[in-house]
Amino acid sequence: MNTLKLDHIGIAVEKIDAALPVWEGILGLPLHGIEEVSEQKVKTAFMPIGESEIELLESTDPEGPVGKFIAAKGQGVHHLAFRVADIEAALTELKAKGVRLIDETPRYGAGGARIAFLHPKATGGVLVELCERK
Ligand code: ZN
Repeated sequence: MNTLKLDHIGIAVEKIDAALPVWEGILGLPLHGIEEVSEQKVKTAFMPIGESEIELLESTDPEGPVGKFIAAKGQGVHHLAFRVADIEAALTELKAKGVRLIDETPRYGAGGARIAFLHPKATGGVLVELCERK
């Protein structure tokens, strides 16, 4: 698989506004923008840092994936996202290897990315996102 870099780290937060004093105020990361991704029932804030980004995830629905995550585990690191050159090729390769996937086909992610999640049972408990950006 052609994995290019660590694209971003997703962090589940109760409220983006309440998390900004940490990530912007203490660590000095610039807020690049906030986008609602209704399909995933989240509001995301992207904060670039070098070649990567911190992605804050605020749930917009307690039944959404981030809402359920926070209810079960509280706030904290939610996923690691790796940028791939060709997400279809990556998914085809993973399926051929029998790797368990959450998304068999790419879906829309924040910032116009195409994303797909691997199942954390396939990756030692870490939720891994693949992401392709043009
Ligand atoms: Zn992400």
